[in-house]
Amino acid sequence: MSEELSDSSAEGTDGLTESQERFLRDLFPGGQALFRREQTWIYGTDAGRFYSPPWAVVRPSGLEQVRELLRWAQAEQVPLFPRARGTNVVGGCVPRGGGVVISTLAMENILELDARDFVAVVQPGVSSASLRDRAQEAGLFYPPDPASIGISSIGGNAATNAGGMRAVKYGVTGDYVLGCEAVLPGGKVIRSGGRVHKDVVGLDLTSLLVGSEGTLALMTELTLKLLPLPEASASLLAGFGSQTSGLEAVRKVFGSGLLPAAVEFMDRQAVQCLRSANVYEMPGDTDFLLLFKLDGSRSCLESDIETLRQILLEHEPKMLLAGKTPREEEELWEARRALNPASFQLGPDKLSLDVTVPRGSIGRAVDLAQEAGGRNGIHTVTFGHLGDGNIHVNFIYHAERGEADMARRAASDLVQGVMRLRGTISGEHGVGLAKLPYAKQQLGRDQTGIMREIKRVFDPQGILNPGKGY
Ligand SMILES: Cc1cc2nc3c(=O)[nH]c(=O)nc-3n(C[C@H](O)[C@H](O)[C@H](O)COP(=O)(O)OP(=O)(O)OC[C@H]3O[C@@H](n4cnc5c(N)ncnc54)[C@H](O)[C@@H]3O)c2cc1C
Repeated sequence: MSEELSDSSAEGTDGLTESQERFLRDLFPGGQALFRREQTWIYGTDAGRFYSPPWAVVRPSGLEQVRELLRWAQAEQVPLFPRARGTNVVGGCVPRGGGVVISTLAMENILELDARDFVAVVQPGVSSASLRDRAQEAGLFYPPDPASIGISSIGGNAATNAGGMRAVKYGVTGDYVLGCEAVLPGGKVIRSGGRVHKDVVGLDLTSLLVGSEGTLALMTELTLKLLPLPEASASLLAGFGSQTSGLEAVRKVFGSGLLPAAVEFMDRQAVQCLRSANVYEMPGDTDFLLLFKLDGSRSCLESDIETLRQILLEHEPKMLLAGKTPREEEELWEARRALNPASFQLGPDKLSLDVTVPRGSIGRAVDLAQEAGGRNGIHTVTFGHLGDGNIHVNFIYHAERGEADMARRAASDLVQGVMRLRGTISGEHGVGLAKLPYAKQQLGRDQTGIMREIKRVFDPQGILNPGKGY
């Protein structure tokens, strides 16, 4: 959940002693360390809208500097806050309480792309889109595709276990992390997993680090699984007169044995936003949009897209558009990309959640979101990854009219409803600072207790991204 919030616990940049500052200047020479407020202030926030200024920012270029930093920080009990591109929406990078931000962006090399082993070895600051593109040039496929792929990093994606539109068919980032080199507070380096695609020896430390939101170790190198590049893809955009008929159509699609690469939905309010932003000419009685992507070999794709079209036609769509060339597909996906900006027509402020429910409960969860917004008098836009039950809910409000509490109440109502449906408060964005209270409620005392004990094994002094996640 992200919301406008200024952090009243903000501290200044003077949390370091002179000798600590000297140590950092020596370890990170030539502009690798930043101390002046005008250089560091931007590192006090991320896309989650919390703010707390760091004491300093350091930008290591490799393993040895990270080791030395983590060894020193544990001895000195200086809090460290890992940060990549800062696109997480939950305050995951925010140095609340003060400390040193470690930016991974100087570790930005793709070290290997191996078409025989089907692996890539990368440093954590590599931009996600550049890995996708470099793999594609080599005829390989790196499937995770968060909507932030153009602005986020592989290390950030791994630390949040980022999902994306293709998760329904290809899974999430964690399904592609085969191995990890990581440095623990104190400076110990672990290398878990490797370039094998299967490995069941011992506990799965790679999976533990994936999604740990920078609370256990700093990942310095990742080995990622690649797939053969599908030959072709095609998309279909379908508009229905009601949510019920749209959801029934999707049920039939999956029942037919088709497994689309992506199935996105947009609800009635989303359709209205897109209509008033003139994104598409849509028949006036369109109330629910579905966007499908299929991929595979050219010959299979032809017949799959026809099967999909026939199933959708049986449910009497109000509109049905096909995109068979990359350009036509782009035009269809533009609707999905245009939605977030278009939804700000309803108000200047947004509180967003990415709840996930068992797939059979998606319709009920969308209704719950709309009921929660309606009961609290604010606009609600729902959309998201229908294929895996991950629903994005934007409660749109006017902070200057004093509606922030109404949005918070709506979010709280929704979270309670989602838990009753045996869902989760986050399918991909993570917990960070924003969802801490709900995470504790979802996990309960026993699980939270075990997670804190695991944290103590990795980080006995609690210096790494303290106060986040669990
Ligand atoms: C427009 C937009 C669209 C988005 N769409 C999606 C989406 O479709 N799916 C999705 O899952 N998310 C999405 N997000 C959220 C965000 O992009 C993801 O969480 C992304 O994985 C964060 O990557 P980053 O490089 O920005 O990491 P950051 O935000 O910099 O860091 C994220 C977390 O990882 C930790 N971290 C970073 N690097 C390391 C490291 N090397 N070792 C240990 N910990 C580390 C940080 O401490 C922090 O807790 C979206 C965000 C925006 C703004």
